[in-house]
Amino acid sequence: MKIIFFGPPGSGKGTQANLLAKELNIPHLSTGDILREKLKENDKISNVLKKILSSGNLVSDDILNEIVSTKLLSLDCQSGFILDGYPRTIAQSNFLISFIDKNKIIFDLIVFFQLDQNIIENRILSRSKIEKRSDDNQEVVKTRLNEYTKETEPIIDIYKMKFPQIFMEINADQEISKIQFEISKKVKKC
Ligand code: AMP
Repeated sequence: MKIIFFGPPGSGKGTQANLLAKELNIPHLSTGDILREKLKENDKISNVLKKILSSGNLVSDDILNEIVSTKLLSLDCQSGFILDGYPRTIAQSNFLISFIDKNKIIFDLIVFFQLDQNIIENRILSRSKIEKRSDDNQEVVKTRLNEYTKETEPIIDIYKMKFPQIFMEINADQEISKIQFEISKKVKKC
């Protein structure tokens, strides 16, 4: 199964991607997690990345395109994957669409997690207390939400129009188990 999860920060898509990846035994490709792992390397690039991540801004398209294309071609991802946090901009979206065409990758499902802005802000701020993520304070949350609205929201419509048969919209303001059940049900029909 080749799946993309779209949704605002704090919509719970990371949690659901983790659960579904375990259920299907496929890798969960969270670009946020991959970048946070890179920060631990403590080299020149990681110091630049650290500044960008803690500000809430987006990392450059070239870096993300390189990370994701390498992963998608790796052996691990041949039988499937869940892409979480990518694409996030028009440039990434264009890159991905031509990349999948060129490499004959066919998506099975696209899930869009829908959640109101005010619920998102509260959720992320309470998560910051639990996970101590440096990019979860109020100012940074605002930047991340602005980036989402400005850069990512427009591309969701592109996917909805390009892949109408496999596009699923889910109300992300529900119990984790309920959302998990609905996605799982859909996956079984794919
Ligand atoms: P996330 O855990 O998905 O919220 O990602 C955390 C941070 O990583 C984001 O705020 C961005 O700085 C960076 N990031 C993750 N995915 C991308 C992407 N596709 N494009 C640009 N920056 C990204």
